[in-house]
Amino acid sequence: MFQNDRYRIALISVDGDPAAEIGQEEAGGQNVYVRQVGYALAEQGWQVDMFTRRSSLEQAAIVQHNSNCRTIRLKAGPAEFIGRDNLFEHLPEFITHFQQFQQQQGFCYSLIHTNYWLSSWVGMELKKLQPLVQVHTYHSLGAVKYRSISDVPLIATQRLAVEKACLETVDRVVATSPQEQKDMRILVSSKGQIEMIPCGTDTDKFGKIERSDAREKLGIAQDAKMVLYVGRFDRRKGIETLVRAVAKSSLRGEANLQLVIGGGSRPGQSDGIERDRIASIVAELGLEDCTTFPGRLNEAILPFYYAAADVCVVPSHYEPFGLVAIEAMASQTPVVASNVGGLQFTVVPEVTGLLAPPKDEVAFAAAIDSILANPTWRDQLGKAAQQRTEIAFSWYSVASRLTQLYTHLLAPAASVPQSRTRIAA
Ligand code: UDP
Repeated sequence: MFQNDRYRIALISVDGDPAAEIGQEEAGGQNVYVRQVGYALAEQGWQVDMFTRRSSLEQAAIVQHNSNCRTIRLKAGPAEFIGRDNLFEHLPEFITHFQQFQQQQGFCYSLIHTNYWLSSWVGMELKKLQPLVQVHTYHSLGAVKYRSISDVPLIATQRLAVEKACLETVDRVVATSPQEQKDMRILVSSKGQIEMIPCGTDTDKFGKIERSDAREKLGIAQDAKMVLYVGRFDRRKGIETLVRAVAKSSLRGEANLQLVIGGGSRPGQSDGIERDRIASIVAELGLEDCTTFPGRLNEAILPFYYAAADVCVVPSHYEPFGLVAIEAMASQTPVVASNVGGLQFTVVPEVTGLLAPPKDEVAFAAAIDSILANPTWRDQLGKAAQQRTEIAFSWYSVASRLTQLYTHLLAPAASVPQSRTRIAA
């Protein structure tokens, strides 16, 4: 699109480092989204700088991914892991360093795309200090999340107020599913402009491995009925429902049932509490012999797990989008998911998988069993799932739609600040 010029844009994700190892502590879908969107936008002609906070002194301050895309880690509080609920007080420092960075580089970003409510606040504050266009993706809405948890954090009031101000004032909010868009309208505000652009997945990375080859590589028996979970260890992910469903499975004892729960960090880290809780439920239900916890699954091995599975289960209590569901689908593996949020959009019941009410272990057991018991149907669902991801969920198409949106918002007709910086490629 830009033959000789490139527009510099900033993706801001204070709490979700796009260059981090995914699957542990709080690193998950948001990190993947920012990274993949950043790469894809760079390929489509933008000069992309992705900003996050530095959470360890061992981390490089700048990671150059390619000539058009880099991650920049700014100081905001001590260089250590700080949970999302405790980051707000460090945001002013992030803004100071962002401005210093612009000054050192000799340019100002004309467009920023912020991610999660913390970064939306950063963006709204920056907008008071310099002319810019702000696009925002929530990744999670406090107004929905707080309905499904009992231990609402102290920061909740602040978060809800920021999310409302964001929807009402930024140039465009990106909803990643029709359900998220509806939640915003009903629970956050009737004001503000929303555009629905889903998340994507790497259709080249997933779906290229045969089930039998994947099983051989992972040492999983060819006759096993393999049920897979991939994701962070967080209560809202509903892993307990999955474990209880597997314990109730009618195939238990008859078939070689295998439950693989992938993700999570090394012992001693913040998500260890949930991991230990899940491990104790596994033990209590007598599932230790058929359950494995392979830990964090890196990029190289993850496609093998999806390919090896008979069914991938996403039992979340709340899921704004749910990348794991489309990754499994891209791998020709049907998905059994909670009928919440974006999962209702990505998983088409009886076509690409099945939906069940969240926390309903009996319904999950029935859904899982019906797929495991019928390999022909499993394969049909898997094929349709792969087709759906190819048509609807590629990062290329996500970036193309974002490019259209940014270009529209940056156009002079949309009263773009005249001082926007255009730099030579
Ligand atoms: N993930 C990973 N390795 C793991 C666990 C998770 O790479 O061990 C990735 C997973 O492939 C997906 C992301 O983390 O891309 C999780 O995104 P999702 O939207 O499903 O959940 P979130 O983390 O946003 O709640």
